[in-house]
Amino acid sequence: MKELVIQGQEIKLGERKLIDLPVGVLTTHEPVTMRAWVVRGKKDGPTLMVTGCIHGDEINGAEIIRRLVNSPSLTKRFKGTLIAVPIVNVPAFSNRSRYLPDRRDLNRLFPGSSKGSLGGRLAHVLTTELLPHCDAVVDLHTGAVNRANLPQVRVSPDDDASLELAKAFGSPVMVQAPVREGSFRYVCNENNIPVLLYESGEALRLDTASIRFGKRGVQAVMRHMGMMPKRPAAAKQRAKHAVLSEKGHWERAQVGGLFTPLTALGKAVKIGDVLGFVADPLGDYEEEVIATQSGILIGRTNEGQADEGDALFHIALVKYPNRAEQRIVKSGEGLPDIPEKEDDHPVHYDPYTDVV
Ligand SMILES: [Zn+2]
Repeated sequence: MKELVIQGQEIKLGERKLIDLPVGVLTTHEPVTMRAWVVRGKKDGPTLMVTGCIHGDEINGAEIIRRLVNSPSLTKRFKGTLIAVPIVNVPAFSNRSRYLPDRRDLNRLFPGSSKGSLGGRLAHVLTTELLPHCDAVVDLHTGAVNRANLPQVRVSPDDDASLELAKAFGSPVMVQAPVREGSFRYVCNENNIPVLLYESGEALRLDTASIRFGKRGVQAVMRHMGMMPKRPAAAKQRAKHAVLSEKGHWERAQVGGLFTPLTALGKAVKIGDVLGFVADPLGDYEEEVIATQSGILIGRTNEGQADEGDALFHIALVKYPNRAEQRIVKSGEGLPDIPEKEDDHPVHYDPYTDVV
């Protein structure tokens, strides 16, 4: 692809432009504009799109893209094109909400329509103006409000091309998850464009480990696609540590009450383990939350209150939980893909995800 024209603007090899994509007008009469960075290397090559904030409050994605676009690795031996949309769902982001102003979920409205609702138009702009230029997509998400996720990528069960990208991304855990109709992943599949979904941290919060793994993962995908010089040793290391799970399982509260977790994200869990407890706020009764499946803890609520049936712990089922836990620990060590001078987001102790 020598010539690249988006929204009537040509982006030449070696150029970077911030392109405004008009979507519609809000109740305040202010325009809604999706803004996309288009960064092209001096040499032609593949095109990767990275999207953030399809859910407006999942802001880790915007920060990952901000750091990625400002990274010096995009100026030197960079080939091909990076299209990066830090905030897809602009009105939801402004409202600090997961949903659109009409309370709909943008990730159920793809491919959208030019004459549809505001969300449908946002979906349509992304699908028709940007997606046709792309060879692969990384879609960045987080857990919900007060629900933290261990860094994980999600791919469709029978999608080998996406699984290959997921392996290159090198997230601690890969979870196979079917695609929902109307999601951005769905429309990528329909267009035969490999896509992986990265989920890490929680909504409304910037989480250091999530941002660091996310930025490293996108860069590793770019290396895998030949957009940046390969680092075979680091890629091999990541592949060695990857944990693949074919299924997830939620442990729910058996009674309502005050919830205290006893297990941290990334830990091995075996059937019968006590993961936490729910206590009667007005009495001395405590109900243990017992694991009914074995695996790795990849998600957890951080709320101290639970109604009966509330989802508390998300377990990725794996055959050898202890081995998987060791691999997860190793996947964060050294982070060999980030040279020291570029290490802008070092991991530190996180009181929200590290239970002592
Ligand atoms: Zn999301």
